[in-house]
Amino acid sequence: MNRSKRQMFDVVIVGAGPSGAVAAALLQRRSLSVLVLEKQQFPRFSIGESLLPHCMDFLDQADMLAAVQAAGFQFKNGAAFRLGENSESFDFSDKSCTGWNSTFQVERARFDQILADEAAAQGVEIRYRNSITSFHSTAGKARLGVENAAGEIYQVGARFVLDASGFGRVLARLLDLEQASDFVPRTSIFTHVTDNIDAPWYDRNKILVHVDPAQRDIWYWLIPFAGGRASIGVIAPSAQLADMPGDDLSRLRRLLAQTPAKSELLANAEYDSPVASIEGYACNVTRLYGDNYALLGNAGEFLDPVFSSGVTIALKSASLAAEVVTRQLTGSQPDWELEYARPLKKGVETFREFVAAWYDGRLQDIIFSSGKSEDVRRMICSVLAGYAWDEHNPYVQKPARLNTLAELCRAH
Ligand SMILES: Cc1cc2nc3c(=O)[nH]c(=O)nc-3n(C[C@H](O)[C@H](O)[C@H](O)COP(=O)(O)OP(=O)(O)OC[C@H]3O[C@@H](n4cnc5c(N)ncnc54)[C@H](O)[C@@H]3O)c2cc1C
Repeated sequence: MNRSKRQMFDVVIVGAGPSGAVAAALLQRRSLSVLVLEKQQFPRFSIGESLLPHCMDFLDQADMLAAVQAAGFQFKNGAAFRLGENSESFDFSDKSCTGWNSTFQVERARFDQILADEAAAQGVEIRYRNSITSFHSTAGKARLGVENAAGEIYQVGARFVLDASGFGRVLARLLDLEQASDFVPRTSIFTHVTDNIDAPWYDRNKILVHVDPAQRDIWYWLIPFAGGRASIGVIAPSAQLADMPGDDLSRLRRLLAQTPAKSELLANAEYDSPVASIEGYACNVTRLYGDNYALLGNAGEFLDPVFSSGVTIALKSASLAAEVVTRQLTGSQPDWELEYARPLKKGVETFREFVAAWYDGRLQDIIFSSGKSEDVRRMICSVLAGYAWDEHNPYVQKPARLNTLAELCRAH
């Protein structure tokens, strides 16, 4: 190990994914010294490829938007849903709130690399292949044990630590903060394909979600990328997949065959990439902050992929936390509950109710109903665009309003 390397920082961030990179850039711009420790070598694969328009606000804040816009990613302006003969398509320009009407669908290996490179260009030090092994906090200071690429353990000190380790869930594990999610365990199987889709109705500018007509808690995503490639995947209850024999590819193809509209669309797809699965992806923690630390993005909670909210929540957490850490390290005594956990949870709770309503059928009935008013459609569209913190939206103020709306749509 290079002993001359600096080992004391204002802020150490664990993980260089979207939440880590954006938090790092925001803190660096506030003249704090920032070190990012990343377990893997970038570029590396990550799932989570369909962004929501609200992401653009945070990329802009971190001065990373121009680099993302210049990268040639697939343009995205909405979300389309299909269930048998029923279909519904939301264009983000129809949303009720102000804000971005479009975003991108991104191969995460390249997207995450761009964000990390942008943070580094702004002065952040990033150490790849450096993994956190321990965490200790005493008054005003945290110490992290780090294993470098050579397998050596060294210590890094920080006035504050942000855990942006995603499913690594570093502090949740080390500090025993793990809490089971309220959602039933679900499994995802996914891959990238050369899609060869030539259906004239197919809109490459939207994520396409197909619901399994025989079992409505199974659904499939199709996330088009630039250059004729796409991410495809399925979500199904883990209990059901546990009994399904075969490798991930054969299980994915067998499930796809259950939804003819989807399998027809992908009839000419070339399965030319590794297939992977994640079991029981939903997770939570008992607390989002503590002495000299806070948890960002998936290192805190992950709900479900159905509304592509993961990166948006991760970036929102980075933006909020950067503000509060800065106040703490410049002499204020911020209230992490009031200034970080509660504001973050506002939007998370909106998405939580949308996810619950998707799986219990309320939201599917709303989405596929012609009985909803144009105003309601625009409010739902705002949440689908990621503006889940906009309290002017009645479905953000009180997400349980979906109950009444579903009843109205069913009665229509
Ligand atoms: C099946 C599925 C589909 C999804 N689809 C979408 C989607 O379409 N759109 C969307 O917005 N979200 C989606 N998500 C969610 C999305 O993947 C995450 O919400 C998002 O990547 C979280 O970003 P993050 O910055 O918190 O963590 P990550 O992007 O996971 O980054 C964490 C980083 O921390 C590093 N790390 C881990 N452990 C350590 C350690 N010990 N030391 C140092 N570094 C460490 C990792 O190597 C990684 O680079 C999906 C999730 C799943 C499971």
